[in-house]
Amino acid sequence: MTVLYQSTRDAKLTATASQAILQGLATDGGLFTPLNIPRVNLDFDRLTSASYQEVAKLILSAFLDDFTSEELDHCIAAAYDHKFDVPAIAPLVKLSDHQYHLELFHGSTIAFKDMALSILPHLMTTAAKKHALEQKIVILTATSGDTGKAAMAGFEDVPETEIIVFYPRGGVSKVQELQMTTQTGENTHVVAIEGNFDDAQTQVKKMFNDADLRERLSEAGYQFSSANSMNIGRLVPQIVYYVYAYAQLVKSGEIAAGELINIVVPTGNFGNILAAYYAQQIGLPAKKLICASNENKVLTDFFKTKTYDKQREFKVTTSPSMDILVSSNLERLIFHLVGHSAEQTADLMQGLSQEGHYSLGEVDEDILSLFEAGYATEAETAKEIKRLFDATGYIQDPHTAVASAVYQAYVRESGDKTPTVVASTASPYKFPVVAVEAITGQTGLSDFEALGELQQLSGVELPRAVRGLEVAPVRHETVVEVADMQGAVERYLGLMTN
Ligand SMILES: *Cc1c(COP(=O)(O)O)cnc(C)c1O
Repeated sequence: MTVLYQSTRDAKLTATASQAILQGLATDGGLFTPLNIPRVNLDFDRLTSASYQEVAKLILSAFLDDFTSEELDHCIAAAYDHKFDVPAIAPLVKLSDHQYHLELFHGSTIAFKDMALSILPHLMTTAAKKHALEQKIVILTATSGDTGKAAMAGFEDVPETEIIVFYPRGGVSKVQELQMTTQTGENTHVVAIEGNFDDAQTQVKKMFNDADLRERLSEAGYQFSSANSMNIGRLVPQIVYYVYAYAQLVKSGEIAAGELINIVVPTGNFGNILAAYYAQQIGLPAKKLICASNENKVLTDFFKTKTYDKQREFKVTTSPSMDILVSSNLERLIFHLVGHSAEQTADLMQGLSQEGHYSLGEVDEDILSLFEAGYATEAETAKEIKRLFDATGYIQDPHTAVASAVYQAYVRESGDKTPTVVASTASPYKFPVVAVEAITGQTGLSDFEALGELQQLSGVELPRAVRGLEVAPVRHETVVEVADMQGAVERYLGLMTN
């Protein structure tokens, strides 16, 4: 049976996996979402000996079922190779009797976005060939810091593609900013905006939904697609590592096949935790999926009250990739919660964009009760970095520390001793100042001073991704107002204005 992807806002807009990956976002602004969860044979006694690539093949062939076996083999082999600095691709580290960190930061940009963005360009170009697409694909991406770089690393000089990345000026770490502004490749474009991530994401969505712009693009030989987690081609590869982690726990004898685990995910756009939900749906034994937020705790409030309210102060925190008030992928969970009613989902999303909030009525409580939610303040996050370092010598990045702090609080309140996997979403080397300040109390360090300190403290070798960053030539210096984002796109692509 083919897995059908449908817009969350219109039952008439459906696509196969490869079509959905090419389009990125449905034309009505909805998100392509699987209507049926495919059957996957998760035989964990057998999966203990499977490589990451083999687990990827199992999951991708189930969800992306209009790709051939050879096509997927090619994509997987091209994605999960020496770009990752460990053969396990996503190693699991035991930090206490119950807490395991799933390190998702061993790819080329040292954040978890690499897990999916190293394969997305291959899935997309394969899909383009499949459908004999004549237009050039333009990847339009709003980034809170990590997606942009990871997407450019994946799409750099990929034939028949252009990639344009918008990031909030002052809203990302120095290392993140330099990673983007020093990006090489003839087809890469980086633009800082005078606004925050939500502004960037809202404008990008607007451009996607603009029929006139789509028409003019098409005349010029272009088609937009998305590398954001709104693209199902981002989401599906993220299911893989949860299954892989479970198999590793069985393999090392930490759990028996079939035993329940908890999964904690530091959450921004709700993509990573939604992938954990799909992993649970195909049979991964999960007791709780714990959604961890920083001080932008719109999701914590949502899970506690069933009301989503974005009308609040936007806070810039030390975990910038989670500084989000409009969590795009939550729309997919809402769609599942309301029994796949596109009408209801569209109504709720209209409420969000027009009034800034919505409240759920009757929903599928079996799904909702799977989730727990909590948030960590800035002080709690820093304290957790120090606590874990003192206890184990392990240094975590501030995003992962948010998750770890929320998990500690959850255990204190619930007494739940279920083995728990914490999604570890970035290397501390990506946010060195925060990590060093939290541990040593030093303030006023530059990112590059902090990198040296961090190396001393952790004994972990400096990753390739940050070596030489300080002296790499800056190639992208464009800054635009939010209102001129579309103008920037039109200028890059040489579009004629009507
Ligand atoms: C993107 C990101 C997150 C948030 O992930 P979502 O899928 O948007 O919820 C968390 N941590 C880091 C380091 C990230 O880059």
